[in-house]
Amino acid sequence: MTRYISTRGASPPIGFLDAVLAGLAPDGGLYSPEVWPTFTLAEIAAFAGQPYAKVAAAVLGKFAGPDIDSAVLLDMCEEAYSTFSHKAVTPISQIGDNLFLLELFHGPTLAFKDVAMQLLGRLYEHALSAQNRTLTIICATSGDTGGAAVEAFRGRANMHIVALFPEGRISEVQRRFMTTATDANVRCLSIQGSFDDCQNIVKASFCDEAFRTAVDLSGVNSINWARIAAQAVYYFTAAVALGAPGRSIAFATPTGNFGDAFAGFVARQMGLPIARIVAATNSNDIVARAFQDGLYARGNVAFTQSPAMDIQIASNFERLYFEMIRRDGVETARTFKAFAETGAVNVPPAALARMREIFSGMSVDEPQTARTILSVLNETGELIDPHTAVGVAAASRTILPDPTTPLVVLSTAHPAKFPEAVLAASGQIPHAPRGTADLAARPERFDRLPADAETVKAYVRAFAGV
Ligand SMILES: *Cc1c(COP(=O)(O)O)cnc(C)c1O
Repeated sequence: MTRYISTRGASPPIGFLDAVLAGLAPDGGLYSPEVWPTFTLAEIAAFAGQPYAKVAAAVLGKFAGPDIDSAVLLDMCEEAYSTFSHKAVTPISQIGDNLFLLELFHGPTLAFKDVAMQLLGRLYEHALSAQNRTLTIICATSGDTGGAAVEAFRGRANMHIVALFPEGRISEVQRRFMTTATDANVRCLSIQGSFDDCQNIVKASFCDEAFRTAVDLSGVNSINWARIAAQAVYYFTAAVALGAPGRSIAFATPTGNFGDAFAGFVARQMGLPIARIVAATNSNDIVARAFQDGLYARGNVAFTQSPAMDIQIASNFERLYFEMIRRDGVETARTFKAFAETGAVNVPPAALARMREIFSGMSVDEPQTARTILSVLNETGELIDPHTAVGVAAASRTILPDPTTPLVVLSTAHPAKFPEAVLAASGQIPHAPRGTADLAARPERFDRLPADAETVKAYVRAFAGV
């Protein structure tokens, strides 16, 4: 069975569902599997032509071990991915010679976060009903996470969900995906502050032991192991559709918190022949710089057209660091405690060399992002969103050792989710897909609160009834 250990080496190993419900490990580290599960090449080849949900159940099954019965897991995957509007769940389209888009935006809130979140909602419900336990999820969002979480957790038994967003700093479409939920277990809070204020309130809530215990607090941000595992699935389906494992495939992944790009590493650890993962950032380039210079150092957040990547701490980078220094938990703990204080980490040369065998980093500025939206439209007739454009721009600057290797760009959001930026870049208004077109007409429900942790905690206690 697969157990989970902390990247900081000081938490006891635990099972899959416990790691999922915990989110962060008690020593402040991130959970990773004790041993990487693998597929044989024949098993990977057999994914060709399989329904997405079946591949998902096979990949997740390797991580969930005995915690979830395999038939139950398959049911969960089938249910989760039936909420997607495309039969292939995450289809591939071609936009150039050997250049492909992996469309991850056919879920209910039009961004790739639905892929993991739809499964996570069902995993939570399964685990909680077995334990007869009710918990509270608090989630701070700079845009897409909140909507995907509300959509996945609304109306489910044994859980309350509270989504915090910075007032006036997210797009109307993003806000409405949260605030139009009418379910009794959902509350949305418009916080009079920045995204960092929202995140600090969530952190303060987790640090308040009495509060954490009273409401049984849980987090679903991108460090949650189940989210990473669920995202590894589409690397498999895409690669196999393009000829893996008979040949290697490369990916370019728009990157903020480094969750999605790390999921590619996970697929590679499991045996998928991935030639390269290009971590594509906007001008918030902490991850790109880490791979270029070996200096992982945070700067000031710049606001861009691709706001879901306006991040200066890429939390999941700790997982890669841990792997690349040969899983030395003591050293990882020392390094990332120092990072919390100084805001900078030097990646040791040997570890950097190992990272560069797999990853490269590329940052894309604002004019380049807009030009890429326009050029993809001109060349293919397709509108892409600004996050995807960052990936495409990075891909087009990437030279692979073997030019016949297919390069797949993860298309992380539907263009209709970012209509202003897409219009400004291309002169075209992206149309919302069926099922979301009436979003603008649905009534909204949210409360406004000051950026104050005590006020928010009192609100959450009242909501949770404790
Ligand atoms: C969250 C998000 C990203 C960044 O993903 P990470 O896992 O944080 O690197 C990219 N694009 C969109 C549209 C997103 O919502």
